[in-house]
Amino acid sequence: MVVLPEGESHHIRSVLRLHTGQQVELFDGCGGIHLAELIDLSGKVRARIVSSTLDREGSGTQLWVGQGLLKGKNMDTVVQKCTELGVNALLPLMASRCQGRPDLIRDGKKHERWLRIIEEACKQCGRTRPMELLETTPFQDSIESSGTGSAGLKILFWEEERDVRLHDLLPFEGLDLVQILLGPEGGFTKEEVAMARGAGWRTVSLGKRILRAETATLASVAILQHLLGAM
Ligand code: SAM
Repeated sequence: MVVLPEGESHHIRSVLRLHTGQQVELFDGCGGIHLAELIDLSGKVRARIVSSTLDREGSGTQLWVGQGLLKGKNMDTVVQKCTELGVNALLPLMASRCQGRPDLIRDGKKHERWLRIIEEACKQCGRTRPMELLETTPFQDSIESSGTGSAGLKILFWEEERDVRLHDLLPFEGLDLVQILLGPEGGFTKEEVAMARGAGWRTVSLGKRILRAETATLASVAILQHLLGAM
């Protein structure tokens, strides 16, 4: 038997208007998918698990995205689309040209909102393991913690890179982890690019057109997920 949280109970009772005896599919956030029969809809809904399966998705190369904080809804969009596209972890980055300064209360509320966006996106796309949302981190700290060790392939997408494209880095077979960095609306500074290069990050171009920040993230994630065999 399982007892569902108030929010899910309300959704089942008042939005979906389901009845006892009907069945729902429940995700436990760890890859488990459970078919359950509704037993009691008063208060917090109680359901009896009828069958369970384990989704083994996610055994391939991990894709981690470091995203320079974007203004307003653009960051919400990146959180939602990275979840749909199967990104394993998202690291919001405070880079030099990010708008606004750190504010513990406001940033805490943003983090909570992004977690809700991830949960809703998982339900919508049927993802059984939510994308991990890391704490907003200063750019320099993330570069220093990424270390110069192998740690898979580390790519900083830079609109001033003229030579290296993604296909120059192929093949990707056998990689456990690919980490990518994308800048805020104002881009990365030359000092930030130099710091990343010094820590083993490769600068890569997405072509000669300068993409809006959220476009660059969605395009690079989709291309990489295709090259990694996840799409
Ligand atoms: N320097 C840009 C400008 O003049 O508008 C600002 C940065 S761009 C709007 C935001 C981010 O998208 C960049 O930091 C980079 O990570 C990525 N980006 C955009 N176009 C790109 C391209 N052609 N190649 C690689 N990365 C790109």
